[in-house]
Amino acid sequence: MDEIIFKQVESNFSKVRCQKCKNEQVIFTKAASQVKCLVCGEILAKSAGGKAEIVAERIENYS
Ligand SMILES: [Zn+2]
Repeated sequence: MDEIIFKQVESNFSKVRCQKCKNEQVIFTKAASQVKCLVCGEILAKSAGGKAEIVAERIENYS
């Protein structure tokens, strides 16, 4: 199970800022795998038991 399906849009998104390149990116906080910065490849969130552990700076939550 390494395929993540983003079809179901839920309200579990956060906007984070990459600590390395300051890119702001909206990530899915229940991601089943790690989320990387689209610009520099820095890990923004890693999987921790069904939900993502945000490593980057969290700016905003969408709920
Ligand atoms: Zn980055």
